[in-house]
Amino acid sequence: MCVEATDARAYTPVMSTETAAAGGECPHCRKPANFCVCDGVVPVANRIALLILQHPQEQDRLLGSARLAALHLENAVLRIGLSWPSLAKALGRPAEPRRWAILYLGSANADALARGRDVVVLTRKGEAAPDQDAALAEIEGVIVLDGTWSQAKTLWWRNPWMLKCRRVVLGPRQPSRYGRLRREPRRDGLSTLEAAAMLLGRLEKKPAIEQALTASFERMLAKYRAAQAGGDR
Ligand SMILES: [Zn+2]
Repeated sequence: MCVEATDARAYTPVMSTETAAAGGECPHCRKPANFCVCDGVVPVANRIALLILQHPQEQDRLLGSARLAALHLENAVLRIGLSWPSLAKALGRPAEPRRWAILYLGSANADALARGRDVVVLTRKGEAAPDQDAALAEIEGVIVLDGTWSQAKTLWWRNPWMLKCRRVVLGPRQPSRYGRLRREPRRDGLSTLEAAAMLLGRLEKKPAIEQALTASFERMLAKYRAAQAGGDR
């Protein structure tokens, strides 16, 4: 994983006194030690690259999943900031936007666009690309925006090069594992980690990628729920 902060505000600690008291912050996932699942994370060798662009004010350290997703993948970059002049600059290496797909924020229903498919590539008009298999096969990297709905929209409008990328929408068969813990920005309702896991698992046709990431996410949520339950006593 490659992580580079471009905005110092992103690292302002936002732990409550309660969680801070539980002992330190993990240097890898930046979560309080009792929420950290890093010890069980074995990075997956992914062929399709992942770029996560995180809004600087996205500071949900307890429930945020972007860093965990990036830690889980050998071919992943997490950047924190508002705008980058190009995909290559955001990624830190040369890249062709037309070979990259951005997870689309707008209201598009994967199953309605292409029946039976849960990952759909869109045309610029927002319709399903005619040959889905060919369009999916061209993708060499995916971009996921991390933040609230309005933060993600800001990232979209501040980075015009995103218009040159393909757009994909997801139609997950099950709701986010967050449940009612957190509202998510996209219509698909998934966390950043779940969306990335689903995209990579489907594009590479390797369900093991999705399973590995979501298993760690479930462990993280279990720790969160356990801490919540402990605090209620
Ligand atoms: Zn950790």
